[in-house]
Amino acid sequence: MSNEKKLKEYDLEPVVFCTKCYSLRIVYEPAIDADCCEDCGCSDTATTTIDNWEKLYESRYGRKFVKKNVDPKKSMIFNLSIEELKEYFYDQPSWRSLIMSFYPTFPGGLGKLDSIILFFDKVIKDGRLDELRELLVKNLKEK
Ligand SMILES: [Zn+2]
Repeated sequence: MSNEKKLKEYDLEPVVFCTKCYSLRIVYEPAIDADCCEDCGCSDTATTTIDNWEKLYESRYGRKFVKKNVDPKKSMIFNLSIEELKEYFYDQPSWRSLIMSFYPTFPGGLGKLDSIILFFDKVIKDGRLDELRELLVKNLKEK
């Protein structure tokens, strides 16, 4: 299955969230025989797709949801600015194979710095920055 398809399926996965604070930490509370928000105690929950929930969250809080509690490595990479991400990428020994896995036809004759500048220009233009971040997280885990 292609990564793009996997991402699309992930986007369509239903999530239960708290309608009061939009938290995804919903647990069953036997005392009131209902699902309850672990963050604010509200028992008013709703179901939507993860994609839609992220949009709701962002419009409410003015920033993207960062899964801080879920995976610190992931949140580290997702919190980097583009410039910091570039530096991080520059330090990766496997930078060229990472580029090639994104763009198999990427010109191979360029030096490291030029390649990375060109690569980031393409990634940003194509709107694949989050995909790159995911790849770097994955790369980190495999080490
Ligand atoms: Zn809540």
